[in-house]
Amino acid sequence: MEVYLDNSATTKVSKEVMDLMTKVSCEDYGNPSSKHSMGMRAEQYIKKATEIIAATLKVHPREILFTSGGTEANNLALVGAAFANNRRGNHIITTRIEHPSVQEPVLFLENCGFKIDFAPVDRSGRLIEEELYQLINKDTILISIMYVNNEIGSVQDIDKIISEIRKIKRNVIIHVDATQAIGKYYIYPEREGIDLLTFSGHKIHGPKGIGALYVHRKVKINPLVYGGGQQRGFRPGTENVPAIAGLGLAIQEAYDKFNHKIEKLYKFKQYFLREVSKLDDIKINGIPKECENFEMEYIKMTAPHIMSVSFEGVRSEVLLHALEEKGIYVSSGSACSSNSPESSATLTGIGLSTNQIDSTIRFSMSSWTTMEEIDYTIDQLNELLPFLRRYRRR
Ligand code: PMP
Repeated sequence: MEVYLDNSATTKVSKEVMDLMTKVSCEDYGNPSSKHSMGMRAEQYIKKATEIIAATLKVHPREILFTSGGTEANNLALVGAAFANNRRGNHIITTRIEHPSVQEPVLFLENCGFKIDFAPVDRSGRLIEEELYQLINKDTILISIMYVNNEIGSVQDIDKIISEIRKIKRNVIIHVDATQAIGKYYIYPEREGIDLLTFSGHKIHGPKGIGALYVHRKVKINPLVYGGGQQRGFRPGTENVPAIAGLGLAIQEAYDKFNHKIEKLYKFKQYFLREVSKLDDIKINGIPKECENFEMEYIKMTAPHIMSVSFEGVRSEVLLHALEEKGIYVSSGSACSSNSPESSATLTGIGLSTNQIDSTIRFSMSSWTTMEEIDYTIDQLNELLPFLRRYRRR
């Protein structure tokens, strides 16, 4: 049996998305900047995808910029907004558990003379909100907070945090990395006071290498690349029309039968965590501390699709490969940071010890995950863990 539980790393492309991309690539392959009808047909795909996305987010189509993915959208949001607004101040706040595509641009900005502060999180990965508010000062121009954490699935109370921030400083620019949240939550940036919103195609059964940044019409950003003038010069370069069309359809599909899919994921998550908690010497990460028996009310404070578990005494890579031999694909910490020798900022940020970090596995589902797959995974964990732990002690 093959069980793919690494959907936070990436997902399988939906058949309808693939068919559309094939059609755009092989039949309607014009350059959207060309003046002839082939060009105009290509442009229509961009228009349609933009309209779907704008309608889903309840924003204006002109507020959507396509990028090469979440990483570029985060870079464009942070570096673009920091340089376009540096006359107003030079202070930026983010959290300790951001994805590297937020962390590294802010370190770059620090080298450029901006002052950066990192707001801490509690042991479940939720922002310690008071500490964030205290960091805001007269020079603060930009605050970046992720919606759903990609490693442990903790979720921030974005609405409340933003309204508190606005009470302290109305005109600060707020960026939200929603790469793991899009398709799992209804997100309405304008209503929620989000100025910049990042998302990406390949986490929602869309193509890789495409993402988007919502930019509120009153917010100024500078481009990161120059030339060509496409997308009003904010992100020039010939548009990746097949992928843009695919992203539009993937977003539409993600919100189709939304409640049903999300309820199913939460049921699976609760069941999985209850079963895993029966195993010896494990620690479940990203769950509120009040949650004692995985009551649904607490599970629903976390993302529906991500489960993070530390298996004491077993190195995560050993368990990852043992599961792989059984056909189960998971991730150790975050796939995005597994190329880097440094420890995960998230797992460090929630206070795990080095041993716990080295024994942490992320299981991430999609709406295509089945109960049979979850049961098979639990059975395999039950079989493998005693064996792997015995092996370690020899
Ligand atoms: N932000 C988060 C929270 C992510 O999980 C990821 C992908 N792992 C990214 C940004 C980067 O997205 P992409 O892979 O599309 O560049």
